[in-house]
Amino acid sequence: MTFEYAPAPESRAIVDIKPSYGLFINGEFVDGNGTSFKTVNPATEEVLAEVAEASDADVDEAVKAARRAYTRVWSRMSGAERAKYLYRIARIIQERGRELAVLESIDNGKPIKESRDVDVPIVAAHFFYYAGWADKLQYSGYGSTPLGVAGQVIPWNFPLMMLAWKIAPALACGNTVVLKPAETTPLTALLFAEICQQADLPPGVVNIVTGAGDTGRAIVSHPDVDKVAFTGSTEVGKAIARAVAGSDKKVTLELGGKAANIVFDDAPLDQAVEGIVNGIFFNQGHVCCAGSRLLVQESVADEVMARLKRRMATLRVGDPLDKNTDVGAINSAEQLAKIRELSEIGESEGAERWSAPCDLPANGYWFAPTVFTGVSQAHRIAREEIFGPVLSVLTFRTPSEAIEKANNTPFGLSAGVWTDKGSRILSMANRLRAGVVWANTFNKFDPTSPFGGYKESGYGREGGRHGLEGYLKNTEKGADA
Ligand code: NAP
Ligand code: MG
Repeated sequence: MTFEYAPAPESRAIVDIKPSYGLFINGEFVDGNGTSFKTVNPATEEVLAEVAEASDADVDEAVKAARRAYTRVWSRMSGAERAKYLYRIARIIQERGRELAVLESIDNGKPIKESRDVDVPIVAAHFFYYAGWADKLQYSGYGSTPLGVAGQVIPWNFPLMMLAWKIAPALACGNTVVLKPAETTPLTALLFAEICQQADLPPGVVNIVTGAGDTGRAIVSHPDVDKVAFTGSTEVGKAIARAVAGSDKKVTLELGGKAANIVFDDAPLDQAVEGIVNGIFFNQGHVCCAGSRLLVQESVADEVMARLKRRMATLRVGDPLDKNTDVGAINSAEQLAKIRELSEIGESEGAERWSAPCDLPANGYWFAPTVFTGVSQAHRIAREEIFGPVLSVLTFRTPSEAIEKANNTPFGLSAGVWTDKGSRILSMANRLRAGVVWANTFNKFDPTSPFGGYKESGYGREGGRHGLEGYLKNTEKGADA
């Protein structure tokens, strides 16, 4: 039986997208050097705005503003005073939550139910959480001395959330910031700049410079940046690690992943199917910790696949602003081309492809939720990050075989385990080489919990007390590691 839903689109009237945006430097929007680029709505291909592209000289201005604010104001302020600004920002984010969610969905393509119920609440929670640390750094275990100016570069999959993960701990620890959002998703970072103005944050404490890879390169290689925080691809992460080698910059890198989501035969299968769907189709699969490799125990593989396909056929793909939408638009034409290419490679390598039967909109960038069965460990779709709504399914017989297959990857960001047995969860978690292991759930994020990878998934942790370490001089190293 199929159900017909009436469309239930969220109104766009709440957002005010300007025709063009400047750079946010020293508390003001400035023109920059005059070059610009366009950001589009990936669900419609509509051009949303013209956005300034920061040159090396613009980045230098931003770093100078951040340095001035650091030495004259922010590092001299008590933690309790800094906390007041962070609490204020957190409350404004809540107050303007609907505006932020709608703008995020328009610029990024993610469903409004996710931007509204996941992204924005987590963003506010990060500011609240780190506001609480600002006057308690002496208990952090990492000392309480800030580093100085932090240069931060973030990707397009969670534009606001990645901004919050970067800016909240940096400011709480007494650093100032120059941040570059991704080229395809700059608008919510620029709205956040307005929120900084609204919160009366001292000029220069937060600077937002828009641009592409060259702007990012100018930030991370700037000699007066003390700390580099990057989230993005492993390839660019490696280039950054090389660029800062030999300098005394502190670096944290949050890179790619290829998580195993492991389903044992004693798992409650309907819940596991929901977890598989959440693991790979949340945010169109544009998730570094996505459960993109399903490892299912052979004895229940047919049953799980039948239930999974039945469930996938009910996913609603389409208008990100529709409150019924489960899967939104692919973020860019470039990303869609990558997903298509790897999926074609999957077929040519001999895996069997099944896509949910859904009508895709005529304009915009779309990819139907897809699953590959008969995948072997050597296949590229089992090894490489697809970063889209594409699941690769492998089977196993014993827990040891599951561990071996799960760990057989250059990445190590996350993993999921589905079983009724508590003891098995613990033994699996201890043997999985992954920064985060979820048990009978997936893609759960909380500001109190550290997040980060092993191996080529990067180093350093964001979130929790551990997230402070990347922004402090760590004068107590060894005392409480
Ligand atoms: P990306 O190409 O590495 O881009 C990330 C950011 O770096 C963007 O702002 C990008 O600019 C900028 N950039 C590009 N080249 C640069 C360079 N040479 N120096 C400095 N900055 C540079 O990654 P993406 O394709 O946007 O994002 C997807 C990747 O991010 C996936 O691999 C995913 O796994 C990873 N990711 C990881 C986490 C995590 O926490 N571990 C979270 C989310 C995403 P432009 O794109 O604007 O040109
Ligand atoms: Mg866009």
